Formats: sequence, C-alpha cells, structure tokens
Amino acid sequence: MQLPYAEPFRIKMVETIKRSTREEREQWIKDAKYNLFNLKSEQVFVDLLTDSGTGAMSDKQWSEMMIGDESYAGASSFYKMKDAIKNILGFDYFLPTHQGRAAENVLFSVLVKEGDIVPGNSHFDTTKGHIEYRKATAVDCTIDEAFDTTIQHDFKGNINLEKLEKTFNDYPMAKIPMVIVTVTCNSSGGQPVSMQNIKDVHALCKKYGTLVMFDSARFAENAYFIKKREAGYADKSIKEIVKEMYTYADAMTMSSKKDAIVNMGGFIGFKDEDLYKQASVFGIIFEGFVTYGGMSGRDMNALAQGLDEGTEFPFLESRVEQVAYLGNKLKEYGVPVQEPFGGHAIFVDAKRFLPHLPKENFVAQTLAVELYLEGGVRGVEIGAILADRDPVTRENRYPALELLRLAIPRRTYTNNHMDYIAASLKNVFDRKEGITSGVKILKEAPIMRHFTVELDRL
Ligand SMILES: *Cc1c(COP(=O)(O)O)cnc(C)c1O
Repeated sequence: MQLPYAEPFRIKMVETIKRSTREEREQWIKDAKYNLFNLKSEQVFVDLLTDSGTGAMSDKQWSEMMIGDESYAGASSFYKMKDAIKNILGFDYFLPTHQGRAAENVLFSVLVKEGDIVPGNSHFDTTKGHIEYRKATAVDCTIDEAFDTTIQHDFKGNINLEKLEKTFNDYPMAKIPMVIVTVTCNSSGGQPVSMQNIKDVHALCKKYGTLVMFDSARFAENAYFIKKREAGYADKSIKEIVKEMYTYADAMTMSSKKDAIVNMGGFIGFKDEDLYKQASVFGIIFEGFVTYGGMSGRDMNALAQGLDEGTEFPFLESRVEQVAYLGNKLKEYGVPVQEPFGGHAIFVDAKRFLPHLPKENFVAQTLAVELYLEGGVRGVEIGAILADRDPVTRENRYPALELLRLAIPRRTYTNNHMDYIAASLKNVFDRKEGITSGVKILKEAPIMRHFTVELDRL
C-alpha cells in the first residue's frame, strides 16, 4: 500500500492546549461580540484563525535565533537574509519589513497614486486596503472558475488574460503602476497560479509597459502545486520552480509569517536598483534603517533559515497533504468544501452549508460562530464582513463566495486534531436546519472592519 505522508520531523517541545465546555464557549463568544478575533487564545482549543505567524519553528531556526546580530547597521543577520533571498528567490535588492502589510505600505508609497488602477488576482485584504487607502482601485481579474467552489480546476488563482488586457485598454497605462500576482491566492481559497499563467501575465505586462509584482506569502505552496499539477515540472525541485517563477517578477512583497515559517517578519524584493532606492526612503520612515527594517537580527536569521526549510519538498508535501486530509474527511461527511483544496487552508462553502440564510445575515460568520460553539475550533470568515463596504457608495459588498476558512498552521497540529475539527464541523452540519438566524453588525471601523467588528445574534 502507499505509505502515508508522514511528517518529515519529530516533536521536541509541546504546548498545552485546553478543552472547554459548550456553556463556557457560549459566554465567551457573547463577550467577544461574536467576533472570533476578540476571543482569548486560551478560550480556543484548535486555532485555525490563520496560518500566519502561527507555525512551529525548527531546532535550526531556534539555533539561528541565538546567533542573531543586533547591530543597528550592517548586521550579519541582514546579510544572511540577503543571501537567502538572492539564492532562493533571485532578487539582488531587498528591504526587510516587520510583516507583509508593511512591505505593501513601503512599496505602494512609491508606486500607487490617487486614481491609479491596480489589477490582480483576488487581492488580499491588506493589499486592497493599502490600495484603497491611497484612493486607488484594485481590479480583480481572477478567472471565473475561481468563484464556483464545485468546479475542478488545477489553477484557480490564474489571472484571466482577457480581463487583464481589457483593463489595460480601459485606462491610460500611466495609471496602472503594476499588476499584482498573488501566489497562492489567499482570498479565493489558497488557489495556485500556473507557471504558464505567470509567463503570460508577464508577457502582457511587458507588452503594455507595467511592472509585475508578486504578493508572495505562499510562493512555496504555489511551487508545490506547479510541481504536482503542471506538465513539465514533476521532476523539478521546489527551489528550481521558485527560481523560475521569480524570473517573471519585477518585485515581490512577502509576509514571512507564512511560507518562511517565522512568527513575525516580511520583506520586499526588487530587481531594479532605482526602485529599491526610492522605496528605501519610505522603508526608513516607516520601518527602520535599510539593514533591519522593523526586524530583530535574530528574527532575520530565523527567516533566512525558514526560507530554506519552507522550500523543501518533504515539508511541503506533508503540509499540503495534511490540509487535503482534513478536506477529504469533510467531504466524506458531506460538508461542502472548495475544490481543489487550497495549500494552506480548507474553505467551507457557507452558502451551500446554510443555503436557507440570506446574505444580509452574514452566512460565513454565522457558521464560524457555530463551529466555535461546537468544538472550540476557531476559523475565520472570508465573506461579506471581510469584503467590507464599497469605498464610494458605502454599501455592503456581498462577494460571490461566503467562505469559512480553516487555516492550518505549519508543523503545529497532528492529524488527530484534523479528525477533531472534521467531527466538530460534521456535528454542526447534522444540525444545520436548526441554524435559522445569523448575525447583525452593531459597530464597525471605516476600513478593515473584520478585525474589530461587534456583532449580535439576530
Ligand atoms: C498575510 C498576507 C499578506 C499580509 O501580510 P501580513 O504579514 O499579515 O501583514 C499579504 N498578502 C497575502 C496574500 C497574505 O496572505
């Protein structure tokens, strides 16, 4: 028989987590105003809020922490990170930042002006936030297949080239500073972009004269899917595929809390020295001097090591296959999940789970609350609350998909936890007809409301 995808590591240190009773959880979620971001982590048994910064570092990363160089300027840790970025991603210039959105803030301070248009594939919420904050517009050019969770498509993160070219024709190119290719596409379900699509987007951008920027949080998972699914890549290593992907990028922003397996950190990679120099000015204002940019030396060391470990096939295989293990369990139970499974998370299709709830009742958020009540499992809404209001009309935006995201932290939970999560969700599924109301908004922030929104049950 085929051997299972056992983890290519063993556990050296453990952290206790506690189960709770349904009565306790009823009180806690009420106190949290039905916003799972407001729960204390000790009120959560299995935390799938995000895979961002929640992974387990390796013994080698912890060793690197001990030899971090905390010099203000020119630290050896900076050069370690520089070498890793050059060797693994191929960028000559980089700026460290404290996390991914900080990288966006610094880079977009140079590139994005009021009235600009920034096409891309399902822009991530912070990315969109940084575009809209500058009074520019994000135009989503993702292929239509991405918005039907039942369609099987190997690369649902792909950009539709006709939509992209139409955007190029609809606006003066001077207003389109870059195209953002998100690898993998977080908001549309952790879906990858094919190498062919990356090549085609790059060719179109060069024909029209604009930059290609990769939003890179899960670039290694993207490379894993290219290896598994795209013709011609089966025999290439992840590192070879990653190198090739980035030959088609002018710049990248990185949330290192994802595929570089650190708890905090980010960076911007540049091919062009001039763009690097312009961005350095904002890097210094917002983040810190160019050789640390909001990061400790020890964290830069761990990041450099994490980039190497995160682009190793055995690790990626066990990670992505653990996510698929959960997805398959849920499918067995009849729970509607997005397919194919994403790299970092399983996305439950809340509209198909609770078809009787109107969209105004925030379907995915309702499901997230029910899953928490059932098993103390914390997922996150990727739906109308996250989609926020239209910046001009201030109307609620109701996205095509209402998803409950179950993000799996790297190297953190075992498959027993996956079984626990699946059983919890099955129990909710079995009583779904009894879930007849939903939630309403009491209070919300003007931008990125999902973090702080206060809700009540209808
Ligand atoms: C997480 C993420 C970001 C933002 O990074 P932070 O480190 O959370 O600031 C940007 N883009 C994508 C695709 C992400 O997944």
